[in-house]
Amino acid sequence: MKFILSNGTQLEMKSAEFKPATQAENEFRWREADAYLFDIDGTLIVTRDLVHWNALHQAMLEVYGVNATIEGIPYHGKTDLGILRAALARAGVQGAAFEANLSQALDVVCREVHANASGIVADVCPAIHGLLVSLKSAGKLVGVASGNLESVGWQKIEAAGLRQFFSFGCFSNSCELRAEIFRNAIAETHHQLGSAAKVCFIGDTPEDIRAARAASAHIIAVGTGTYSYDELQALTPDLCISSCAELI
Ligand SMILES: [Mg+2]
Repeated sequence: MKFILSNGTQLEMKSAEFKPATQAENEFRWREADAYLFDIDGTLIVTRDLVHWNALHQAMLEVYGVNATIEGIPYHGKTDLGILRAALARAGVQGAAFEANLSQALDVVCREVHANASGIVADVCPAIHGLLVSLKSAGKLVGVASGNLESVGWQKIEAAGLRQFFSFGCFSNSCELRAEIFRNAIAETHHQLGSAAKVCFIGDTPEDIRAARAASAHIIAVGTGTYSYDELQALTPDLCISSCAELI
């Protein structure tokens, strides 16, 4: 390619110097992360029981006197606090009345899930076990970043036989916003590995993608939950996959 400067000088540049980055070069290099932080529901596992659902119902009934369920609440990607807030607001409980009894309600959710933990039926999502084995054997830090309450999240992971893979978890006990949970998970990663450590989240909902963006972190979106590959891809996560089998 030739350029003619204003003084008449001709410059010739080889075409290779103008070569745009290839698609592979532009792709998010997810293997270079130091820590991998997984959402639970729809990402690591899919539960086929009503233990968590019933616990939320019992908390609303026992603490707020409201016979409500989370039916119809768009709860995928919401934190437990957010789910309770939405379900109770629909039943007319909001503001100070909601806040005053929230901690008691969360206690009931944990108590009920604990009491019924043997009824948790968790299907591990495709290729998760192999992916966790390979991340651990590569020396990566592996954690959980979930909208579940802490004890509820760990009990689901234990029911799925995956507890041994995770070094730490960040949950919704004091975080209603998923972005806050993600920021806490990044802070914990930096505490353990140093502030230069690179973090990659893996989640199955638009809320995971938005939270990662809000926390300035990379995210792999996986279509093993209720959202399809196309729905997730529309939000342009760093990488979008149909299942974690594509990462192995
Ligand atoms: Mg999820």
